[in-house]
Amino acid sequence: MEVTSIQDGIIIDHVPAGTALMVLKYLHINPATTKLALIMNASSHRYGTKDIIKLEDVTDVDLDVLGFVARQATVDIVRGGRIVAKSSPNLPEHLVDVITCGNPRCVTTTERGIHQRFHLAHSQRQEYRCDYCDEEAKLQ
Ligand SMILES: [Zn+2]
Repeated sequence: MEVTSIQDGIIIDHVPAGTALMVLKYLHINPATTKLALIMNASSHRYGTKDIIKLEDVTDVDLDVLGFVARQATVDIVRGGRIVAKSSPNLPEHLVDVITCGNPRCVTTTERGIHQRFHLAHSQRQEYRCDYCDEEAKLQ
């Protein structure tokens, strides 16, 4: 087991280069109040460049949300400075209140109190569409 620079927490590796801050936003991790290290545009054998997010004292992240924003990412659970478990993000069938529909005529835009629901429309393209109006989801 390899030694890491954090003692207890989570390392999100293989994050697409340049997207670490967006990933933190979607995971609702506030960089102002969380002990974390960001490594951006690191060399990667697999992808050319990548970002790495190291979160101290964080015990879990939403693997559904991570699958939506960074499908290729890997998650390492660190205890006592060692990686004790690895997991991969899910490619969720449904996303509820993760993104908002961009269609100005969508019922979720025109009416209040409706949950933002998206479904996986095409798994190979990782394409999500609004349950109500079929608008394609875009990362914001
Ligand atoms: Zn919609």
